[in-house]
Amino acid sequence: MTIRAPKGTDDILAPASRTWRRMLRIWDQITERFGYDLIITPLFEATELFSRGSGEDTEIVQKQMYTFTDKGGRSLTLRPEATPSVMRAHQQAAGSGVRKAASWGPMFRYERPQAGRRRQFHQLDVEYLGTDSPLADAEVIELGYRYLNAIGLDTVIVTINSIGDPVCRPAYQELLKEYLRAREDQLCDDSRQRIDTNPLRVLDCKICKPLLGDAPTPVDHLCDACLAHYRSVKETLGVVGVPFAEDRHLVRGLDYYTRTAFEYIVSDLDAAQNAVGGGGRYDGLSESIGGPAIPGVGLALGLDRIVLALGESVEDGALDAFVVVADEQVRTEAIRLVSDLRSKGFRIDYDADERSVKAQFKAASRREAPKVVVVGDEWHRGAVTARDMATGDQREVPVGEVSEWLR
Ligand code: AMP
Repeated sequence: MTIRAPKGTDDILAPASRTWRRMLRIWDQITERFGYDLIITPLFEATELFSRGSGEDTEIVQKQMYTFTDKGGRSLTLRPEATPSVMRAHQQAAGSGVRKAASWGPMFRYERPQAGRRRQFHQLDVEYLGTDSPLADAEVIELGYRYLNAIGLDTVIVTINSIGDPVCRPAYQELLKEYLRAREDQLCDDSRQRIDTNPLRVLDCKICKPLLGDAPTPVDHLCDACLAHYRSVKETLGVVGVPFAEDRHLVRGLDYYTRTAFEYIVSDLDAAQNAVGGGGRYDGLSESIGGPAIPGVGLALGLDRIVLALGESVEDGALDAFVVVADEQVRTEAIRLVSDLRSKGFRIDYDADERSVKAQFKAASRREAPKVVVVGDEWHRGAVTARDMATGDQREVPVGEVSEWLR
């Protein structure tokens, strides 16, 4: 019996992985440009970090965690999201002041697998810790938008909302509960259960949403400070030219989430998977996992979903050229040429097996090399044969001019 990858997980191989590599490269560039340092945290953490950090009332904690006991009897959980880990790492490093952290990696949730909903999936993540300034919210939102544009998703819509804070939310929540109780018998089972534990989440329940058009929404009940914060986020997005739409029903359903919530929607994907990412402000998170008060705002983009949204548009070939050895006498010189071109920054490969020229050309086209450099007899005249695979154009090029030709 052959062994297969576990249900809900994927192998990401070439050529699709070329798109992934490009996505990660651009992620590196953009986060660096916005001033975010790389952060790497463990793939597993104490279970408590997520039960307190993601929240007991969330679907993640109630149904989706990969939790196990290790040989030392500790309860550990494969991370279902990055934010609690980043906050924990910041606390543990006795972090004070501002920390801007970027990362990417696999997340684990026990979901019913389907396209765009996997048990191991991959997120890009930034967290901006240590400031409650609305400029930070706007920066994080802008970063995600610029990134999605840079990789070629130009139909992205940014939706934003404010869900208030511990000053204004309790009174609003009472209003909402009253409204929901009056309609209890029309709500789905999950929503009915959430009326008391997590009423905000009912607002964005896909099933109940149509019934809740006239529900009281958080933005209409913000305190002055939250309203000013929200206005400033929107103004700043205007200043930097990020278009957005307000969605009064967009929520993050936990107490430690405050104020800003946002999502990136790709209109040409199925509704179930059209959110390629989202984020928000979480000024209460640090305390909920036992630390001091540290404000923060962050975002997570789902790579697997972005790939779905990009469709078949796979990145071009992995190579700039393939080197074919046509004469065993000059094999050593050919290897030296490969090494030299690679150190000049070209993507070069060759066939390590000593095979026929025909077989090497086959390998070159299987690897989708746009150009082939043939090292043969002409080497003794100080030249190689250079072939453009697309046009079929073939000519002799002096060895010293190969880089020029490749460019
Ligand atoms: P969340 O951490 O739930 O706010 O999700 C942020 C983003 O991660 C979503 O917008 C999706 O793009 C992606 N995502 C979340 N869960 C999954 C999953 N099970 N499979 C694939 N992508 C996911």
